[in-house]
Amino acid sequence: MNRARALSKIAAPLWAALLCASFAAEVTIQTGHAPGDVAFKLDPVPPPAVDDAATGATFKIIGGTADPNARGGLAVLHDGRVPANEDAPGENFFFAPPTEKGRLLIDLGRVVDVKSVATYSWHQGGRAAQHYTLYAADGSGIGFQAEPAADTDPAKAGWNLIGKVDTVDKGPGQHGVEIFPGKNGTPGKNRYLLFEVDPNQDPAGFGQTFYSEIDVIDAAAAPVKRLNVEKIIDTYKTDDGKYTFMVDSTQSPDLREWFGKKAIPAVQEWYPKIVELIAVPGFASPTQMTLRLQEGVIMPGNPGVPAYASGGNIVVSSGFLRSQEKGEAIGCVIHEIVHIAQTSDWGRGRVPGWVTEGVADYIRWFLFEPESQGAVIRDPDKARYDASYRTTANFFDWVVRTQVKDLPRKLNATSSTGYHHGLWREWTGKTVEELEAGWKKSLVP
Ligand SMILES: [Zn+2]
Repeated sequence: MNRARALSKIAAPLWAALLCASFAAEVTIQTGHAPGDVAFKLDPVPPPAVDDAATGATFKIIGGTADPNARGGLAVLHDGRVPANEDAPGENFFFAPPTEKGRLLIDLGRVVDVKSVATYSWHQGGRAAQHYTLYAADGSGIGFQAEPAADTDPAKAGWNLIGKVDTVDKGPGQHGVEIFPGKNGTPGKNRYLLFEVDPNQDPAGFGQTFYSEIDVIDAAAAPVKRLNVEKIIDTYKTDDGKYTFMVDSTQSPDLREWFGKKAIPAVQEWYPKIVELIAVPGFASPTQMTLRLQEGVIMPGNPGVPAYASGGNIVVSSGFLRSQEKGEAIGCVIHEIVHIAQTSDWGRGRVPGWVTEGVADYIRWFLFEPESQGAVIRDPDKARYDASYRTTANFFDWVVRTQVKDLPRKLNATSSTGYHHGLWREWTGKTVEELEAGWKKSLVP
């Protein structure tokens, strides 16, 4: 750990008073972190600026390769915007593995009184922490090279080493780093900044940091405007106070009222019913959840996904809600709250996805909104019990009506006991193939 980092743990006014003159020439680096979304309010690091000296600067990669999934390119680093969520590859810049010492050059276009340089990143895993070395130059140094080659030490090519940053000990979430490159508290006169970026150590190779924004503050310019994303979170409870639903409509304030008046009453009525319907001994469904309304593509790489449940939270596409206010919107939310209630062992492979999804769609289409007839089978010949979603929901409905009344609970219990086809014979005396044959017969008019 170099001295700049050690000092960074002490609040600035305090250490200014503590230091003797020889230390005062040290560069100040301060860091801020939050494990979740705090809209980049990462005290003591201020929120990103929207109109700083980097906004119009030229950004260029001069070492290493950009990751092809960083679809927004370098522009996302100085557009004054931050990503919509904790896993937004298209709204961050990151190098491709196995890039080490990736070099990112910023040309401010003229010598600027640089008061501070700030970097912001966000990820829920190994891509959150920042790990880089910052160099700066005014371009007048002897032998200055604006684009030093990979094997050239910038410090020997007319650049000043400003400081080293490594925030890995803070863990996932939002990270902010603010560096004051000048000496003795005065701004540093610089035209060029060079970030030499290293990946974080990640055994899976996903250690390339998701950089969201880079700011350069010009001491001589008017004060910058800072990002101000006020969180809009409404808290709703069931009448008995047992269940709490938090609705985050920060990104989509236009949907706040509609969601509270139309979707929430359905959630308040149905979540307790669902919990009761599938409750298994020894497992309590969560009593609290957050429903976040999100703009744009909510699941990277899957532009068609309207909603998903993950880690006790539900994310719903705001675009989908707007287009389906009178259509599928509320039923889709009901499907997702089933996932919150489920004892699901997703990812461990114990309960197949078609079972989990089939139960969620069974509750939605056959109990919550049977009148919409959303899971009617049009082609019985092609129907398969394990086709998932609506088709499996239709199969489960037939089993509930003709064989086992508490099938949803039995299926939910397989999260702890493990699912296998033999269970159908235990429950009904018939194999799943025999049940499928009976179900398909019932579908033929
Ligand atoms: Zn689902």
